[in-house]
Amino acid sequence: MGAPSPVGGATNRLFDPLSAWYARTARDLPWRDAGCSPWGVLVSEVMLQQTPVARVLPVWRRWMEQWPTPADLAAAGPGEAVRAWDRLGYPRRALRLVDAAVAIRDLHGGRVPAEEEVLRSLPGIGEYTAAAVASFAFGRRAVVVDTNVRRVQARVVTGVALPAPSYTAAERRLATGLLPEDAADSVQWNIGLMELGALVCTARAPRCRECPLQAECAWVAAGSPAHDGPPRRGQKWAGTDRQARGRIVQALREADGPLPRAEVLAASGAPEAQAERCLAGLLEDGLAEGDDATGYALPT
Ligand code: SF4
Repeated sequence: MGAPSPVGGATNRLFDPLSAWYARTARDLPWRDAGCSPWGVLVSEVMLQQTPVARVLPVWRRWMEQWPTPADLAAAGPGEAVRAWDRLGYPRRALRLVDAAVAIRDLHGGRVPAEEEVLRSLPGIGEYTAAAVASFAFGRRAVVVDTNVRRVQARVVTGVALPAPSYTAAERRLATGLLPEDAADSVQWNIGLMELGALVCTARAPRCRECPLQAECAWVAAGSPAHDGPPRRGQKWAGTDRQARGRIVQALREADGPLPRAEVLAASGAPEAQAERCLAGLLEDGLAEGDDATGYALPT
C-alpha cells in the first residue's frame, strides 16, 4: 500500500460528494431505520458479514419478530437459533449470536453495550462488528472497515485496483485518518463508503461514471491499472466441506426427529470420508448432537 493521500482531516474532501450520493441513493433497509434497536443492528451486522442483503432481509425480519431483544434469544435454545438461521450459511454465527445474547442479558442488564471495547468482549463480536454497532446503533465515532470499504479506499486514495489480501496496519491508519472528527459525520462517512462499495465500486465491475468520487479517485487518475498482485481466487463452493456441512444442517433442520447416521451422511452429498469428517466437525462445533444410538439432530 502506498502512503495515505492528503485527504484526511476534520472532514475529508470526499465527504460531501459521498454524503450527497448516499442521501440520494441509499437502500431503504429496516436495520437503518431510526427506530431499529441496537440489538436489531447487531443481528443485521452479524448476518451481513458473509451473506448478501437480499438473503438476509427475510431471515432478519423473522428473527427480530421471534427474538426482539437479546433476552428473548438468550432464552431460546441453540437449536432454535440454527433452525431460524435458515440458509444464511456459516451457521456457527447463529450459535455465537446466542452466546452474545446470553452475555448481554447476564452481564449488561439485557442492553447492547455502546462502547466498542465492551462490544468486543462479547462472544463472537470482532473488530468490525463492534465498530459497526458503535457507529450505526449508537452514533459513536468508530472506524468501520469491511471488505467493501477496504476496496473503495484502495482505489480512491491509494490508487490500486484491490487491497492487500488481508487487512494491514497501513490500511487501518488510512481508514483512521479519513474518518471525520464529528461523530455524526463519521457515521455518514462509514455508511456511505460501505454502500458505495456494495453498489458502485464493486470488485469486478466498478461503475466509475456513476461514482460521486470519480473526480477524486486516484485509481481512475492513474488510468485504472489492472490488479498486479497475486491472483484472487473466488471462493470455491462445489465439493467443499462448507457445502457438505450446509447440506447436513439443512437435512437436520427439515427433519421431524433425529436422523440415523446413514441418512445424515447421505444428505451431505459428499464421499464417505468427507461426509464423516463434516459430521464430526458439526458435532464438535455444537451445530449437531446425538450418536448412532439416538440418531442426530440440531442442538437442543
Ligand atoms: S471512481 Fe470508480 S474506482 Fe474510483 S471509487 Fe468510484 S467506482 Fe471506485
